[in-house]
Amino acid sequence: MSSKRKITVAYGDGIGPEIMKATLAILEAAGAQLEYDVIEIGEQVYLKGISSGMERNAFESLRETKIFLKSPITTPQGGGFKSLNVTTRTSFGLYANVRPCKAFSPFIHTHFPKTDLVIIRENEEDLYAGIEHRQTQEVCQSLKLISKPGSEKIIRYAFEYAKKYGRKKVTCMTKDNIMKIADGLFHKTFNEIAEEYPEIENDHKIIDIGTALVADRPESFDVIVTLNLYGDIISDVAAQVTGSVGLGGSANVGEEVAMFEAIHGSAPDITGMGIANPSGLLNGAIMMLVHIGQPEIAEKISNAWMKTLEDGIHTGDIYQEGLSTKKASTDEFASAVIERLGQLPATMVPASFDKDTTPMNVFVSPVVKAKKELIGVDVFVDWDEQGRDPQILGEKLRQTNADGLLLTLITNRGIKVFPDGMRESFCTDHWRCRFQNSEQSTISHAQIRELLKQVEELGFDFIKTENLYSFDGVRGYSLAQGE
Ligand code: NAD
Repeated sequence: MSSKRKITVAYGDGIGPEIMKATLAILEAAGAQLEYDVIEIGEQVYLKGISSGMERNAFESLRETKIFLKSPITTPQGGGFKSLNVTTRTSFGLYANVRPCKAFSPFIHTHFPKTDLVIIRENEEDLYAGIEHRQTQEVCQSLKLISKPGSEKIIRYAFEYAKKYGRKKVTCMTKDNIMKIADGLFHKTFNEIAEEYPEIENDHKIIDIGTALVADRPESFDVIVTLNLYGDIISDVAAQVTGSVGLGGSANVGEEVAMFEAIHGSAPDITGMGIANPSGLLNGAIMMLVHIGQPEIAEKISNAWMKTLEDGIHTGDIYQEGLSTKKASTDEFASAVIERLGQLPATMVPASFDKDTTPMNVFVSPVVKAKKELIGVDVFVDWDEQGRDPQILGEKLRQTNADGLLLTLITNRGIKVFPDGMRESFCTDHWRCRFQNSEQSTISHAQIRELLKQVEELGFDFIKTENLYSFDGVRGYSLAQGE
């Protein structure tokens, strides 16, 4: 039996084939034990009418090899095409997006020469669930979904990653001063899991100041773990300030399957010119080699690559007059790396990857069932009459009484407008009307059905309901601003 590890490879679009050819040449010269199952993805597949950009055999290949080295693809313009990355992430449960952002100063220009941070971004949840609705003429919603197991998995991954790669600190970033329940769950889970890793420092930053600090003081961060949307934004900020947008690789890791790629896209403007920098994909491939248990080869390539940068052999995108010694083509750059295999960088710190091939211990604790009680309901109505006067809406809805279930307040875009609202509050056509038993006790589904019947009979269009629950007596919904 061959000792080679079979991986799935996609050459992608634009500069994809050029940088993949260069990357594989380096991997082979370094002695990576790999064999390839090559699949077609991207533009040509989309144009055949396959909206995911991946044919069935591509999914089968990934299911078999579990490792995907992927070049960038071009997403055709126009609607109807699904993001191939999102499809791969969600189909194979690739819950962790890992993006190292390292400065290679002075060879790559950056104001922050000591930066060496890793962003670990939750990859499956949050607003990326893509559950959106237009509910009234004026208002749309996008649902942000955060789960306890999803949060636990990514946070545990971040700490395990820190342990494996000898990192000292994990910083969590959320916006839980505003989203106290959803982001609050992520932050609370972070605090719980951090306790299991006393040897690793931990802290939390609100995402806005956190992002500003990444832009201003990236050298002070080590590992950052955050939610999907914040991670998407902050990882581009970090890549930009370290000068690594063109050089960075990233990994999307799941329990079984993992995908490795460059950060950048298919660069149609330089396609076919032979000048693309293969470093981003190469750095993705280096992460892949560590992941599949070939860390010595990963080190050898990483060190030769750094030595190439130090020797001033640079592709056009990173060429600096006075510092670079040669403007290399893609193939010349790859050959220069190959020639330096076995050498160490002289100025930069040589790569050293963990040789322990024990898989990271990313588990999810069993959910402890809490006592869940239904204690009210928010009924959302579309209403655009009588000058949108909340007093009129409130008085009408106070006519309902579903066996003691009564209107307690109305908000518009989260701000309390009834009773006792501020007359200055701007009101749209989207109203959240909260009903609870007068004594704030549990309610029944039958009361909600009766309430909706009465709301309809009063002539209102109810556009959705949200049940209000408590869990072990703890309120599971937010209070209105001004409540
Ligand atoms: P891009 O990253 O392809 O290009 C931005 C700029 O960076 C261009 O000037 C390009 O020439 C340059 N550049 C990028 N990679 C380079 C490299 N390796 N060497 C030298 N220069 C490089 O971003 P874009 O132009 O916004 O997107 C082009 C296409 O790529 C779009 O269809 C987009 O959807 C797709 N895309 C794909 C991925 C992916 O597959 N993971 C990621 C981002 C964008």
